[in-house]
Amino acid sequence: MKTLLITAPGKLEWTEMDLPELKRGEVCVRVAYVGLCGTDIDIFKNEAHFKVDYPRIAGHEWSGTVERVGSDVTSFKPGDKVIGDCMISCGKCLSCLAGYYFACKELKSIGTSAPYVDGAYKEYMITPERHLFKIPEGVSLLEACTVEPSVVSVYAVDVVKIEPGDIVLVSGTGAIGVVAAQYAKLKGAGIVILTGRNDRKLQIIKETGIDFTINVKKDNLDKKLSEIVKDRQVNVSIEASGNLEALEDMLRVTGKFGQISIPGSYHTPLEKLDLGNMASRDLSIRATGSSGGGATFYKVLWLMQLKKINTLKLITEIYDFDDIEEAINLHLRPNDSIKTVIKIDKNA
Ligand SMILES: [Zn+2]
Ligand SMILES: [Zn+2]
Repeated sequence: MKTLLITAPGKLEWTEMDLPELKRGEVCVRVAYVGLCGTDIDIFKNEAHFKVDYPRIAGHEWSGTVERVGSDVTSFKPGDKVIGDCMISCGKCLSCLAGYYFACKELKSIGTSAPYVDGAYKEYMITPERHLFKIPEGVSLLEACTVEPSVVSVYAVDVVKIEPGDIVLVSGTGAIGVVAAQYAKLKGAGIVILTGRNDRKLQIIKETGIDFTINVKKDNLDKKLSEIVKDRQVNVSIEASGNLEALEDMLRVTGKFGQISIPGSYHTPLEKLDLGNMASRDLSIRATGSSGGGATFYKVLWLMQLKKINTLKLITEIYDFDDIEEAINLHLRPNDSIKTVIKIDKNA
């Protein structure tokens, strides 16, 4: 099968790989679409927040069609439309049994940090049945490849408590930030404000139903916020940009008894943390990173089926698998992309 290898920082190579035999409980899926993630670009540049060994097959936001099933597979049959998880767990440890398999001690990532299994920039994925999720009616293979980043958003919002009418501040113009903002609104937020640094992206994002956007490169965040919230305050902040300045802003502007959830990941540690100042506001902080497991995948698929979460508008470009280098190059320079998707299967 046609496979894209990252052989060294900045180096891509096409190769033909053999498809391994299906083991018990495994499913072979023909990959349809893969969302190009910031992590894929970090792996390409060797700038990830984890150590990268090369060669590497990246790609962890994927959808596809079941091709064949191994023995003992009961939930899937050839032709089923599915999405795959971004992790493979042991299925037996305490965390797995409790449903929090992203805390499994034998967890392997798909194409990201070690220990890992090969990612989805190839024609087929072989995955244990328990890490596949059926795509419901009304959700396309294209939309479904954005479920994985949406899972990160939904989990990050679910760990904080949003009361009806709360004011929620979100930073980050990628899919994780925007879906977090959409979902906060869905959970009853009165006003959702999203910050970013690119007017074109903020314009598209505003059209997906976000109340206010602020370009923090051009406008003073504190001033703009006080114009919007007036005598109220920011109750919940979600930091999804991976930018430490945005995190520092949130630590400063989140109000009394405020909650901050952090799905973002950072290349460097935060230098100063003023705990006294935080204590004076009784702030709670949750660093969730890329957490969220099986139940959250089903929840996002259901919300997409209900048209309560809309990611199709966030897909700003689709590249054929053959043109993936062009897609990567786009992300090596400043760009207006919110979500880039790679079409692996020409017939999808
Ligand atoms: Zn990702
Ligand atoms: Zn486990």
